[in-house]
Amino acid sequence: MSGGNMVVRLLESNGKSMKIEFEGVPLAVANAIRRLIISEVPTMAVEEVLIIENSSGMTNEVLAHRISLIPFVSDIDRYVPPEECTCGSKLGCEKCVVRYVLKAEAGDQPITVYSRDMVPEDPNTTVIPVSGNIPIVKLAPGEKIELELYVRVGKGKKHAKWQPGIATLYESKESADKRILFVESFGFLEPKRMVLEAIKILNKKVSNLMHVIRECEQHA
Ligand SMILES: [Zn+2]
Repeated sequence: MSGGNMVVRLLESNGKSMKIEFEGVPLAVANAIRRLIISEVPTMAVEEVLIIENSSGMTNEVLAHRISLIPFVSDIDRYVPPEECTCGSKLGCEKCVVRYVLKAEAGDQPITVYSRDMVPEDPNTTVIPVSGNIPIVKLAPGEKIELELYVRVGKGKKHAKWQPGIATLYESKESADKRILFVESFGFLEPKRMVLEAIKILNKKVSNLMHVIRECEQHA
């Protein structure tokens, strides 16, 4: 793809990672896209854990922390960050929260509780853990946990658990005017969506800046 004197080439792409070559794109712009991918592209993770029962050997804090690090397939077209939602409710609404329950109890044998054991309130939700095989906690015979989980939209700059993946920028061996952006997704979003979303955010920032400057002119 080419626009003006800028050329963008897709070098590699699969569901997990993507390599794009920028030619003639200013370093500051390419770097802004890279940083926005890491810090501002929204994703979904467990923001809040309500512990109803926990007789496991793991403390409430550690248990909640482990759960918060599980990436969820993120529907950022449907869900908004709680601070941007119109409901203004602490509990949230169908636009800003996805609720899950995690209930497990070991009988005579110890068990391991996995991400697949989390049950969504809405069985049809598309916001699901990226893998069902993430171990959460081991329960010894007789031990029990019961938790309510609140999955919400957030950003890497708020907490690293929402960081959608990694993004690195390096100079092409062919030419100093060519740079390669490598993006790897943790599974929340497709790599392509991560890049497009970062560009959308950059665009919005520039247009906000334009409004501010126009207002300055009017008041000058
Ligand atoms: Zn809401």
